[in-house]
Order: sequence, then C-alpha cells, then structure tokens
Amino acid sequence: MPSLPPPPRLQELTSTHRIALFLDCDGTLIELAPGPDEVHLPGYLPAGLAALSRTLEGRLAIVSGRSVDWLHAAGFGAHVLAGTHGTELWWPGIGLDRAARPAGLDEVDAAFHTFAAERPGVIVERKALAAGLHFRKVPAQGDAALTLAGKLARLTGLELQPGKMMVELRAPGGSKGTAASALMARHPFTGAMPVFVGDDITDEEGFVAVARAGGFGIAVGERDSAAASYHLPDVAAVHRWLML
Ligand SMILES: [Mg+2]
Repeated sequence: MPSLPPPPRLQELTSTHRIALFLDCDGTLIELAPGPDEVHLPGYLPAGLAALSRTLEGRLAIVSGRSVDWLHAAGFGAHVLAGTHGTELWWPGIGLDRAARPAGLDEVDAAFHTFAAERPGVIVERKALAAGLHFRKVPAQGDAALTLAGKLARLTGLELQPGKMMVELRAPGGSKGTAASALMARHPFTGAMPVFVGDDITDEEGFVAVARAGGFGIAVGERDSAAASYHLPDVAAVHRWLML
C-alpha cells in the first residue's frame, strides 16, 4: 500500500502556481472495466473537465494508452489528447499528429484475433498504432497472451507494452514520459508547473518527466510508485481532488 501523502488541494495549487494537468484515463478518470469497450463515463465528467480546463486556460490534457479515436468516441475530444502512449497527439482546432501505422501491426492483429477466437472472453482492441489483447474476463489466459505478445514483438520489432490485465504491441518510441515532454514544449503548456495523475506502471515515466520539469506526479490506486510524490486511493478520490 503506498505510503505517499495526499496531494495539496487543487484550489491552493492553482492560486499559487500556473499549473498544467496531465490526466491518465482508465483507472484514473474512469473505472477499469471488464472489457475495453465496456467503460462507463459518469454524466458529470465531460462538463466538469471542460470547466476545469477553462480554469486552467486550456492547460489540461488526457495522456492515455487509449487511441485518440477511442478518446474522441468517449467524449474527450474537446481536450488536448496524447493517445497510444504519446504516439498520437490531438490538438483541438489544429488537428491530429499521428505517426504512420507501423509494418507488422496487421500481422499482430490477425494473430491476436486467432488467439481470441479460441479463447472466449479474450478481447482484441484494434487501434491505429497498436493492437491490444485484453484478458480481464479470463485471467487464466494471461500467461498465454503474454507469451504470444512476446513472440510477436520479437518477430515484428514492435514494442511490447504490458498493462492491467492486458498486453499490447505498438509503434516503438512513445511513452507517457515522451508524451508529457512533447506537451510541455507547446503552447499553452510551456512554462507551467506540470502535474501528472495516473494509476498504471506506464504512468511512472510521466511522473519522472513532470518532476524533471519542476512538477510532480500523483499515483492512483494500490500500486506502489517510485516516481510519484503524492497518492490518491481511487477514481472517486481523483474526481474529488479535481473538484468534478
Ligand atoms: Mg490507467
């Protein structure tokens, strides 16, 4: 259980600092769900985030392993989005900055679908720049899924990214850290004190990046964090901290 203290109140932070917020999505803003498309967005979330973003003069971004397409469909398109671990960036009013779909991804997609077809409950998530295999409904298939993903990573040169009850292969080069750094280099985030909030192991690189830039990370949930400064216990606590 993390021994980190709770973060300072957001109101105090915004009254003394020009902060920027980088928010992970699953497990941070929304509860983890059995399947990748079974997530539930509380009705107050979009309007709450929009109001918060206005308070921060637009310095609020969603930094997620989800694709920008998914984040749009889920209703986050009004915000700056760093999707698929920073390999895609969406700027409202400007557009999408996305790398080319890497070679080998169609092959991975096909292999994942074959694997899932033989194992009811395993779900394939198709993204522009990645392919995910979810086994939350059948945790016993986790080892086999990881073995397959590892083999395909060696075959294709794609990056292996384990997550919570899932694994994915994606375009190499991105991380939550490179995503946070790319955002901090651009208006309106430049010069602000960055705060990164996330629940998963992949968020650690985001915590390191914002700490290097004079900010701090907030780890969410049960997982111990080496790089965060503060801790919030769950999604509901994140919503309270954000005053949503
Ligand atoms: Mg997460």
